[in-house]
Amino acid sequence: MIVDMMDLHTHTLVSGHAYNTRNEMIEAAKRKGLGILGITEHAPAMPGSCHSMYFMNYRALPRKHGDLTVLYGVELNILDFAGHLDLPDSVLKGMDIVFASLHIPCCAPGNERENTDAYIGAMANPYVNVIAHPDDARFPIDYQRLVRAAKERHVLLEVNNASLSPEGFRGDPRKQYKELLGLCAEEDVPVLISSDAHVDAAVGEHGYAWELLEQEGFPDELVVNAHPKMLREYVNAKWL
Ligand SMILES: [Zn+2]
Ligand SMILES: [Zn+2]
Repeated sequence: MIVDMMDLHTHTLVSGHAYNTRNEMIEAAKRKGLGILGITEHAPAMPGSCHSMYFMNYRALPRKHGDLTVLYGVELNILDFAGHLDLPDSVLKGMDIVFASLHIPCCAPGNERENTDAYIGAMANPYVNVIAHPDDARFPIDYQRLVRAAKERHVLLEVNNASLSPEGFRGDPRKQYKELLGLCAEEDVPVLISSDAHVDAAVGEHGYAWELLEQEGFPDELVVNAHPKMLREYVNAKWL
C-alpha cells in the first residue's frame, strides 16, 4: 500500500492571499498525519507577498515538531522567458526546498517555445528543486522538452491538486497532465504531488491528483510522496 506522507507546497498568511498562520498549517499537517510539511511562500514579485528578508531569516525556525518535519522554502516566480527568478542565489542557498512557477501577475504568457524556455531557464538554477503546476492552459508547454530538461537537471515536476480540483482556476489541466505523466513514465522522471494549500483545510489534500495518477496507470515508484528517501536526492535540505 502507498502511504503519502508529505505535502511540500503550502502557503501561509505572509504570501498575501493565503489565510492561516504557520502554526495553524503545522497543526493541520499533524492532524492529517503527515511526516513532512513544506511551507513555500510566494517570492517577492508576487503582489502582496513578503520581502526577501523573510526568507533570509528561516534559520530562526525549528524544523522538528514532534513527528512532523517542516521544510521552509519558496515558490519563486519565473520573470521572463530566459527563466530569471525573483530571489538571488545568496538567499536560495538557505532554503530547504525551492519551487519555481509561472504566474500571470509576474510573467505574461508567451507561445509554447517561450514558456518552455522559461521553465528550462529556471531549471538551470542549481537551487530549483521542483517546477510547480506545469499545467496551466494559459501557458502552453512543449512537454517533451520540459520532461527531458527535468531529467537532465534532476528537477521534480509537480502534480498540483489545487489545479485539478473543481475550484481550480488554471483551466482544465487534465489534458496537460495526461501528456506530462505519459512522458514522465516513459523517461523515468519522478513527480511530486502537492496541495498548494492556501488554507489549513487543504493541507495534505491530494485526492484529485492520486485519482488521475491511478487512471493513467502511473507507476507508484515514480511518485516521490511515497518515497521520503527519494526526496532527499531532490531537495536542498540535505539534513532530511
Ligand atoms: Zn498563491
Ligand atoms: Zn503557484
